[in-house]
Amino acid sequence: MMENTEIAKVLRDVGTLLEIDGANPFRVRAYENAARTVEPHAVPMRTMVESGAKLTDLPGIGKEMASHIQELVTTGALRVLQDLTREVPYTLVEMVRLPGVGPKRANKLWRELGVETIDQLEAAAKAGAVESLAGFGKKTQERIVRGIASLKKRAGRFRLAHADQLVEPLVEYMRTHEGVRRIEVAGSYRRRMETVGDIDLLVIARDPQPVMDHFTAYERVKKIELASGTSARVMLQSGLQVNLRVLPPASYGAALQYFTGSQAHNVKLRRRAVARGLRVSEDGVFRVPEGEDPDAEDVLSGERVAGASEEDVYAALELAWIPPELREDRGEVEAAAGGKLPELVTLDHMRGDLQMHSTWSDGHDGIDAMVKGCVERGYEYLALTDHSKSLAMTGGLDAEALREQWREIDEVQAAHPEIRILKSQEIDILRDGSLDLADEMIEQLDVVLVSIHSLFDLPAAQQTNRILAAIRHPAVHILAHPTGRLINEREPYQFDLEEVLCCCKENGVAVELNAHPSRLDLKDTQLMRARELGVKIVISTDAHRVRDLDLMHYGVEQARRAWLAPADVLNTRPLQELLGSLET
Ligand SMILES: [Zn+2]
Repeated sequence: MMENTEIAKVLRDVGTLLEIDGANPFRVRAYENAARTVEPHAVPMRTMVESGAKLTDLPGIGKEMASHIQELVTTGALRVLQDLTREVPYTLVEMVRLPGVGPKRANKLWRELGVETIDQLEAAAKAGAVESLAGFGKKTQERIVRGIASLKKRAGRFRLAHADQLVEPLVEYMRTHEGVRRIEVAGSYRRRMETVGDIDLLVIARDPQPVMDHFTAYERVKKIELASGTSARVMLQSGLQVNLRVLPPASYGAALQYFTGSQAHNVKLRRRAVARGLRVSEDGVFRVPEGEDPDAEDVLSGERVAGASEEDVYAALELAWIPPELREDRGEVEAAAGGKLPELVTLDHMRGDLQMHSTWSDGHDGIDAMVKGCVERGYEYLALTDHSKSLAMTGGLDAEALREQWREIDEVQAAHPEIRILKSQEIDILRDGSLDLADEMIEQLDVVLVSIHSLFDLPAAQQTNRILAAIRHPAVHILAHPTGRLINEREPYQFDLEEVLCCCKENGVAVELNAHPSRLDLKDTQLMRARELGVKIVISTDAHRVRDLDLMHYGVEQARRAWLAPADVLNTRPLQELLGSLET
C-alpha cells in the first residue's frame, strides 16, 4: 500500500532518471510537478483512486501522470521506471542529490568513469579521478567528498514529519486491537528530535501474543526481524524500523522513561539513583538490598518503589517530571532537582504566524484562503510574506505588484476584522547584503523579513558580511531561516552564526525558528544560544498552502527542545505588544 510520499518519490525518481538520460525538459518537469502535487495532498491517492475521483482535476496531473498514479496504487510498481532503470542505473538518483553533482555531472561520472553508486563515487573522488573530468575540477571533487560524508552521517534517519506519517497510522491500527490497553511511542520520536532512526512502541496488554501477532500482521510490514515473548521488531516498507514491547501495567512508566531516553539523560538518572541506594531500570525503580553494589550489572533487585508511571519514577529520584523534549542532559536533571524547570511554550501560546506565502508568489492558496486558515486556527494576526522580485522562479513581487497586493490585502482585511493582516515581504538578501526592495517600499511594510535564497556557496567571511549588512538595515525585523539548511538534504551555508546572532541582538532583529519540518531552522542548540544572548525569536510556518499552517507544532516542539518559554517567543504576544517589540 503506497502513501502519497512514496508515490511522489517514485514520480520524482523517474523525472530524475529521465533528466540524467538527457530527456526533454518538459517531460522531466511533468514528473516533478506531479510529485509536488501528490506529496502534500490531503487525501491519499489510493483513496482517490478507490473512490474513482478524477486525478486529472489536480494541478499538474495530466492523463499520463494520472495513469501512473493509478498503476502505482493498484500494483505498487511503475513499468516506466522499470524500463528506464534497465538503461540508467537507479542508484544514480541518490548521486544526483549530492552537492556538486546534479543530473549532467551524474551522467558524465557514470558514462566516463563507470561510477554507478555513492561508494564508487567516493572511491573515485578520493583517488583523484573526478577532478580530471571536464567540467569538474578539484573544488567540486572536494565538495563531493564532503557531501558523501554528511550523507553517510544521516543515513537511515527519517525526518520527524515523515516518521509522523508512518507512525500515526500504525498506532491507530494497533489501537483497533481489543487487547491493547495503552500505547505510546517512546524514543527520539517522543523527544521530538528533528530526525529519528527507529521507533519504539510500548503497549500495555494482559496477553502479549495476540498483540504481537496483530503488530506483525500490519499490512505495511516488509520484514519481521524478530518476534518472541513480549517484543518484536519489524521493518516497514518505507525502511523504518519499529520495535514493539508489550508490558505489564506495573512497569509501564519505567519502560516509557527508559525507552524515551536519551541515553545521556538516563545515565544521569542512574547515577542519581545509585547515590540514593536505588536502582532504576526498564522494569522499575528498586531499593538495592543492603550490601549489594547498586552499580553492578547483575545486582539483585530488592523492593520496588516505583514503575507504574513516569511521574513516580522521577519522584522516586526526588525529581519533578521532565518533559521529554528536554531529556538530552543539557541541565534538565539539575533544573528538575532544583525546582527550576522552565515553563515551556505550547501551541496554545501562539497568537499568530509570521511567515506565509500566497498565490502572489509561490504559494498555492490565495490571500483570502490563507487569512481564513489563520482565523480558523485562532490567530490574532498573520504576516503575508510573499517573495521579492529577484526570486523570479517563485514569481517574486516587484514594487508595482506589491502595491497591487496591498490593495487586495486591504479588501480581505475589511472582510476579516477579527484578525490583523500584517503587510510583509520575505525580501531576498542580495549578494552584497543589500535588500531586494526599494527603501520607500520597505518603510511601508508592517513586518520586514529578510533571508537568503541564492549563492549558498560564498566563502564564510563573505557570507557572514552579506547577512550582517542586511541585519544592520534599520527597517529589518526578522532574519528568516537563518542557516539555510534543509534537513537530510542541504547543509547550512558556511557563515559565522555567533557573529550574526550578536548583530541581531545589537540591532533588535529577531531570528526565525522556521517550523517547516524540512527546515527547523534555527535548530535546538542554536536557539538555546540565541536565547542566551538575548536575541528575540519568532516561530513561523513558512506555509505555502493553508494546510501548512498546521506545521506550527513542529516549530513549537523544536522550541521546547531549546527550553524556550512563551516569553522568549515574540509571536506569543498580543498584536500591539508584538509590533512594539519588533520595533525596538
Ligand atoms: Zn524563504
